[in-house]
Amino acid sequence: MGDSKTVHSPLVTYVSMLSLLTLCPPFVILLWYTMVHADGSVLQTWQTLREHGIQGFNDIWPKPSVTACKIIFCYGAFEAALLLLLPGKRVEGPISPKGNRPIYKANGIAAFVITLATYIGLWWFNIFNPAIVYDHLGKIFSTLIFGSFIFCIFLYIKGHVAPSSTDSGSSGNFIIDFYWGMELYPRIGKNFDIKVFTNCRFGMMSWAVLALTYCFKQYDLYGKVADSMAINAILMIAYVAKFFWWEDGYWNTMDIAHDRAGFYICWGCLAWLPSIYTSSGMYLVKHPVHLGTQLSVSILVAGILCIFINYDCDRQRQEFRRTNGKCLVWGKAPSKIVASYTTTSGETKNSLLLTSGWWGLSRHFHYLPEILAAFFWTVPVLFNHFLPYFYLIFLTILLVDRAKRDDDRCRSKYGKYWKLYCTKVPYRIIPGIY
Ligand code: NDP
Repeated sequence: MGDSKTVHSPLVTYVSMLSLLTLCPPFVILLWYTMVHADGSVLQTWQTLREHGIQGFNDIWPKPSVTACKIIFCYGAFEAALLLLLPGKRVEGPISPKGNRPIYKANGIAAFVITLATYIGLWWFNIFNPAIVYDHLGKIFSTLIFGSFIFCIFLYIKGHVAPSSTDSGSSGNFIIDFYWGMELYPRIGKNFDIKVFTNCRFGMMSWAVLALTYCFKQYDLYGKVADSMAINAILMIAYVAKFFWWEDGYWNTMDIAHDRAGFYICWGCLAWLPSIYTSSGMYLVKHPVHLGTQLSVSILVAGILCIFINYDCDRQRQEFRRTNGKCLVWGKAPSKIVASYTTTSGETKNSLLLTSGWWGLSRHFHYLPEILAAFFWTVPVLFNHFLPYFYLIFLTILLVDRAKRDDDRCRSKYGKYWKLYCTKVPYRIIPGIY
């Protein structure tokens, strides 16, 4: 099963699973409402809820609508078609715990360029005004919340009755199976990989699409796009472009190679990601800030630099693994540990652990520029309200927890070799501090 649930005590695992299952959906709606209808003020939303109680919350929650369903369906079908039809290099994923090797088609960057060009084209030729998406945002999120929940039930049933590979199985507990998922590599047919669709082509792509949507809406409202809005969108789109440029690398990470397809990953990417990750832009639409050229350029350069360093960390590790350590890391031969481990089938295998370059600074140094990049695309909102910074705080907690989860998983996988890595590279994220 996914490693995640073995890290914390069973009680903490149950409490956090149940609270995430029940609290995340209403939180998405409250965040959207506060950003779009309450000027980003938590206090204002709180007052509305206090005055009107449960009925008030019910009134706030937009019901799924036909228009929202149409928008989501067209977008999802378009992305599914691009995933299936665009040509791309054949890429082999990492060997799974059961010894399977998933095969992918690397066409992410082409899908990204075509998606954004099509969206801008629809606006340019007056075929579809993206501002409509912003106008229906609450209903879209509401539809995604319920629709993705139903999709996770489908994944649960599929995991039981028609798993795509031997990398699947039940823990014997319904909640754990639903929350963490049952299949590592669920597919529809031979080529439609469900996690690549949910995580990459629906979730990550929606981030860039919504960043653009917010610019179009601001343009619709004020006849121009403020520099703050432009920086927010450019940095978020640059981050997503980086993601698709490196998408085949993503297929080697924990999300794909270790976490199974359940509520945590799939609902997270289908409903939580589009709403929470884009929330600073959502706020900026009706709160344009004029930063001025100097400040704008400084934030932009700092943000791009962080995105580049984050990319370079991932690239360095993958290049090192791909070449079996026969590459240069920062101009020198890499220092490394040959770590052996035993697979679930009892086979002994070796992995290389890089201990120089970015990976010699700390064991998860790449999380630092990831967090800083999020800071730079959020800071154009300035400091009137706390809520636009929610994603930044969430990301920091997520990555600190992820660093621990990954450390624990690697310790149990590599034993004494991981201990040796920890002695050579003692810090988890921030060199010299943590
Ligand atoms: P990583 O890229 O950190 O991969 C972790 C794995 O790499 C480990 O499990 C281990 O796997 C291997 N590894 C660990 N140390 C070394 C080493 N020294 N040398 C070689 N291999 C090593 O996974 P993540 O998924 O956490 O991060 C990928 C990217 O996604 C990052 O850029 C991150 O910032 C980003 N991210 C963004 C999130 C967001 O919500 N915005 C959330 C999470 C990640 P093995 O078993 O193969 O040895």
